[in-house]
Amino acid sequence: MPKSEATITFLTGKDYPRLCSFCRRAIDDIAMLFKDGLMADTDDPEAPCMVVYDRRMYCGGHECINKAGDANSDASEKQT
Ligand SMILES: [Zn+2]
Repeated sequence: MPKSEATITFLTGKDYPRLCSFCRRAIDDIAMLFKDGLMADTDDPEAPCMVVYDRRMYCGGHECINKAGDANSDASEKQT
């Protein structure tokens, strides 16, 4: 049985700089499962991201609700 040698590089958390650290870690975890061959075969580098979506592993369920916005660090609101 010929093995396809196509080594796919999955996108991991660092490839989604706008996501919060929680969501990036979730994607990292899933990407690791793919690399370990524990997930269904795929040739989609974004598969980990989609699994995180399907499993509602983002901090906001189906999306990251703590996305880093633009570089405007607008920390004007002080919490007391
Ligand atoms: Zn998030």
